[in-house]
Amino acid sequence: MFDVAIIGAGPSGNAAAYDLLSAGLRVVLLDKSDFPRVKACAGGLTPKALNLLKYDITPVIKKECRKIKITSSTRKSFILEDKNTLCHMTRRDELDLFSLEKVLAKGGAFHVERKIKNVVQTPSHIEIETGSRTFKARYLIGADGANSFVRKFVKGMNRLKQNFAVEARVRVDNPARFLMELEFPSLVKGYRWVFPLDDHVNIGIYSTTNRTMLKRKILTDFAKIKIGSDRLEGFKGYPICSGGYNCIPCSDRIILVGDAAGFAEGFLGEGLYFAIKSGQEAARAIVDSKRKTKSACKLYQQYIQGIKTDLRLYQWSANLFYTLPWACLKLVSSPLIHSRFVKGFGNGKTLKELWMIASKP
Ligand SMILES: Cc1cc2nc3c(=O)[nH]c(=O)nc-3n(C[C@H](O)[C@H](O)[C@H](O)COP(=O)(O)OP(=O)(O)OC[C@H]3O[C@@H](n4cnc5c(N)ncnc54)[C@H](O)[C@@H]3O)c2cc1C
Repeated sequence: MFDVAIIGAGPSGNAAAYDLLSAGLRVVLLDKSDFPRVKACAGGLTPKALNLLKYDITPVIKKECRKIKITSSTRKSFILEDKNTLCHMTRRDELDLFSLEKVLAKGGAFHVERKIKNVVQTPSHIEIETGSRTFKARYLIGADGANSFVRKFVKGMNRLKQNFAVEARVRVDNPARFLMELEFPSLVKGYRWVFPLDDHVNIGIYSTTNRTMLKRKILTDFAKIKIGSDRLEGFKGYPICSGGYNCIPCSDRIILVGDAAGFAEGFLGEGLYFAIKSGQEAARAIVDSKRKTKSACKLYQQYIQGIKTDLRLYQWSANLFYTLPWACLKLVSSPLIHSRFVKGFGNGKTLKELWMIASKP
């Protein structure tokens, strides 16, 4: 019997596993894919996400961006800049393999299980049936992403929203000549991005509503305009799950984390920070439950209050921004408005902390 079984070895699952193992618990990670595996994601890690990690990921950082160009079809572009890095560019196949190796080095077990058939909850433990074998653990962490299978074993998770994004790589000489860029097209609740890495540029489209804009043809045209090449490699898309601030993402012995819990933000689709943070809070709740003789689910609900507040703030910002994009962009383009925000962002502040900084006279 394991102390904890984790389904999904992405950022949330690995973060939970690492902390559980550090506390001396027996952990098994199950994933439907062998690693390295492809995951649709631009791999942009914000400073606050990087700050959470318990180990150095320098070997898998491909570029540090200190400038972000903001463009729109209606306004002159402007640049957000700080002396600190504003976004650390990674490749998800490499980042996730790197994190999984850290977990394995700590003594975690890992199994590729193509299909989880059933999850059975008993008063004392959980049984995970894969067809060929059954894994038993005291707790199960559902870290299996936006299309989570584990989610259906936790009641009340029906208030989540699935946004969507597509991405691709464009190989170019000297990608460093491109700035990180976010472009907000008019009449669309979403944006397009350009993320330079070491040997290619990652481009993509995020949409909160309109899936018709997520076509390969639209991304190819965007690449031609921005990068001067229409040679897209590895075009792929995936949902990004938000709205988790409305739900209780756990039951007696099952805890949901990351996208499985709807913990991506609804404004720009940032999910890595919330995945890592919620994975760590799930681990903390399980470790503390024994010490404090309290239910892990109750503790987890306490520990994720900050995540939920931040996610609500992001949703509120998204509603405001995508209703009045021109007014918001005009406001943000002013260095008077954005300079303090950008400095705090570069220092790894959360959105709540940034609002508190901004509201100080
Ligand atoms: C195109 C795109 C671009 C993005 N860019 C960024 C970005 O730049 N920065 C950012 O912060 N966020 C970004 N996101 C969001 C980010 O990718 C997610 O929020 C993040 O991956 C969530 O992490 P997770 O660990 O919860 O789930 P995932 O990363 O989805 O990991 C889930 C894991 O579970 C496994 N799994 C799934 N189902 C099963 C099953 N039934 N059985 C066993 N294993 C299973 C999968 O193989 C996978 O390894 C992007 C998303 C998309 C779609």
